[in-house]
Amino acid sequence: MTRRGWIGGNWKLHNTVAESVDLAQGVRRRLEGASGKVEVVLGPVFTALWSVSEVLQGCDIQLMGQDLFYEQGGAYTGAVSGPHVRSAGCQYVLVGHSERRQYFGETVASTHLRLKAALASDLIPVLCIGETLEQREQGATEAVLEEQLLGALGDVSPEGLQGWVIAYEPVWAIGTGHAATEQQAQEAHGFIRALLRRRDVAWGDATRVVYGGSVKPQNAGGFLAQPDVDGALVGGASLKVEDFAAIVEQAS
Ligand code: PEP
Repeated sequence: MTRRGWIGGNWKLHNTVAESVDLAQGVRRRLEGASGKVEVVLGPVFTALWSVSEVLQGCDIQLMGQDLFYEQGGAYTGAVSGPHVRSAGCQYVLVGHSERRQYFGETVASTHLRLKAALASDLIPVLCIGETLEQREQGATEAVLEEQLLGALGDVSPEGLQGWVIAYEPVWAIGTGHAATEQQAQEAHGFIRALLRRRDVAWGDATRVVYGGSVKPQNAGGFLAQPDVDGALVGGASLKVEDFAAIVEQAS
């Protein structure tokens, strides 16, 4: 089974609109003429989505929201929902990033609602799951991944989730400079794929599972060489054109 590689840049709460446009232009220019073997996705702040979508017009680079609220609209001050993310030009949306769970109270249950809301708005979800250091040290990594994955899925059927992406992101590796080892990543990815295959073998084989957590040009190749690692979700290194492009090139 060949799965198309996927490299996403999560720009988090960085860059104004003008800076986001600049960065997107730089990435576009740098990747012009790239093989297209790997799908490249940029995730700016909400306020820059539309402007960045204009920069990406006519090229293969896709756009991603960093979150969505599960209600479609209404009296929810400050929220951004699926129809808004979609109409700002996004094809993808992150669901359940650990920073959302940690700082904004998102739970397994609300992740399930967000996943459904993404599908209802014709957005491809990138579901983020991963254990904390404490959970890993207690030997609970697999239990946590299973709870976060199956809890987010709930009654959503594999048919509705063709082409989606799962990001395995150990919380202790995000933004710390201490990436997982290639072996730790492969073990977790293999476990996640086995969970998916238990529900539907073909779906499990087709789903892209990408690694996130301090990915840099220097370590990307090792992750991407693992049989169950189909790409990367990149935070810090996605803010520099050269670093991000170097990671994309290794995935190609
Ligand atoms: C992330 O934001 O999902 C991430 C993995 O960040 P970093 O690459 O900076 O660890």
